[in-house]
Amino acid sequence: MVRLAGFAGLVAGAFSMAAGEYVSMTAQKELLHRELDVERKSLRVSPKQELAELVAVYEQRGVRREVAEEVAEALMSDPERALETHSREELGVNPQQTGEPKKAAASSFVSFAVGAVIPLLPWFFISGVGAIVGSIVLGTVSALAIGWGLGVATGRPPWKGALRQLGIAAVAAAVTYGVGSLLAMKTS
Ligand SMILES: [Zn+2]
Repeated sequence: MVRLAGFAGLVAGAFSMAAGEYVSMTAQKELLHRELDVERKSLRVSPKQELAELVAVYEQRGVRREVAEEVAEALMSDPERALETHSREELGVNPQQTGEPKKAAASSFVSFAVGAVIPLLPWFFISGVGAIVGSIVLGTVSALAIGWGLGVATGRPPWKGALRQLGIAAVAAAVTYGVGSLLAMKTS
């Protein structure tokens, strides 16, 4: 029973998590594209002001004025490169890399599924208090380890990854438990 309920919770949770990630990434991407459009337009409408902006950015970083002007002018001569430079300096993004909602959704799905399936494992072998304790210990340790590993792999602070994965696992456990209780009520 616990296994079936847990599996149902896992599927439900992983899908809703992936859907949430997809929606929020898509919204973020659209916002970014709007900001890029604004930048593209102002490059066309007021190139002088945009040039001055870029010169100011480089001067702020300690580049001499003449050099900053020369670099900025060179970068501004090609519209594509101008947009790329402006969006990187002002919005902190590369227009070619505005996020991949599908990839993010897939990785959320996998993190959730893994976070939910590991605590289920003890139930295949034992039951009762032993299985509950086993679930909690396995779930916590594996979440921290997976999160840490993901952090290292993606070049982000490992402890942040560990805490994030622990949070996902906790939600996964709560959803699994909730769906499980509902199923148990229905079938008993
Ligand atoms: Zn600009």
